[in-house]
Amino acid sequence: MSDAESPGDFGTGPTTDYDDDFEPVEVFPEGDLDLRPGADNCYKCTACDTSCPVAEVDDEFPGPKFQGPEQWRLKRKEDVEIDDSIMSCSNCMRCDDACPSSVPLSQMHNEARGEYVENQMDKLSTEYVRNRILANYGTLARVGSKVPRLTNFVMGNSLVQQVNEKLLGITAERDFPEFAQETFREWWRDRGGNKVTSEEKRIAYFHGDYSNYNTPEVAKAMVRVYEAFGYEIAVPEQRCSGTPMFANGMLDDARRGAKVNVRNFAELIEEGYDVIATCTSCSMALRQEYPELFDIDGVEDVSANTYEAMEYLRIHEDLDAAIEDAEVDMGPLAYHAPCHARNQGLDRQAVELFRNLDGVEVEDVGDSCSGISGTYGWKEEKYGKSMEIGEEMFEHMDHAKGEVGMTECPTCSMQMEHGSGYPIKHPMEVLAEAVA
Ligand code: SF4
Ligand code: SF4
Repeated sequence: MSDAESPGDFGTGPTTDYDDDFEPVEVFPEGDLDLRPGADNCYKCTACDTSCPVAEVDDEFPGPKFQGPEQWRLKRKEDVEIDDSIMSCSNCMRCDDACPSSVPLSQMHNEARGEYVENQMDKLSTEYVRNRILANYGTLARVGSKVPRLTNFVMGNSLVQQVNEKLLGITAERDFPEFAQETFREWWRDRGGNKVTSEEKRIAYFHGDYSNYNTPEVAKAMVRVYEAFGYEIAVPEQRCSGTPMFANGMLDDARRGAKVNVRNFAELIEEGYDVIATCTSCSMALRQEYPELFDIDGVEDVSANTYEAMEYLRIHEDLDAAIEDAEVDMGPLAYHAPCHARNQGLDRQAVELFRNLDGVEVEDVGDSCSGISGTYGWKEEKYGKSMEIGEEMFEHMDHAKGEVGMTECPTCSMQMEHGSGYPIKHPMEVLAEAVA
């Protein structure tokens, strides 16, 4: 049995290279994609278009209505190809939320993007190579994190950044995220896995690549909090949730990862575990995008049993009582709700929970998109637009009290730090200070 087939073992066992069992799979085994579902429900109100942050700054981007229902109608009437503007959609999914007719816009965009990349994109083009590299950050991170000091030195070199921009179209304006000296999985393995055992309270942690390689402090804070509430934690073998792959139309890569994730987490769900994620894009992927895009055994179970980390605790524990007498040393925090938190109805939870926590003052910096949208803001040609979208958030952060930000999304966090210069906390880190 491969390691990926024994998912529950990371509570105590060693990690292995989880690339070993990769098998190429057909992206669209059933033939052409069908963009129809829900298209006829569109009554052209344009609510989606007015909510799209990319359309707001990019005059050439025709907006979500065109990318979804209209594109399907065009395809139905004649044998037209997918419009290449689909590659400018950042997959922020704000249009899903805006549609009063429940048209599955982001699903249609993801499918259209997948078809475009599969059938129309030149696989030798710089854009394809660049997008593939950005979408598969976890593969690079796995190598880079083996020698974090060297990688941080090389990737932090301005000459290397200029070369990346010239040759690959990866913007030199951003600082490459630093790798931690010890990954979360290494830390978890070295401490011997879970410290709490419980038959009733069990969660399986989807840490994603960023918490593992770059911000293990977020994952460790989650462990401290959940152990304080008496949860048994499993950390199964896993791959990237697929969020950057959906946004770049790399559905075959995303599907390979989803198969491993669904198999490993579904097995744990059968043993009584629920799945939690500290990144709102990861929880969104497992909950919504997986069942929309992939027909994999267990995908509905994983979707139905996945939660964002604080959301889960708010459902199962009395968090208000737990922090009632606590005091933390954090000061004012400028909070940005990621678009994918909004889509899951989680955009107010941190503000509401920490409202009465002594030693912290949380100020919501508004409902604008941060603008980075995963890999979108890393593309040289999109960088300026990304910063234009984020401008409102930067201004609000600037006017907010204090000089520390807070958000649940790793890439929003990068953008907040980049645009404001503030260090950024995750709500789990604040909660860990209060209860653990
Ligand atoms: S997902 Fe975001 S960027 Fe894409 S069309 Fe919808 S609102 Fe616009
Ligand atoms: S919001 Fe929904 S109904 Fe209105 S134009 Fe967009 S897809 Fe159509």
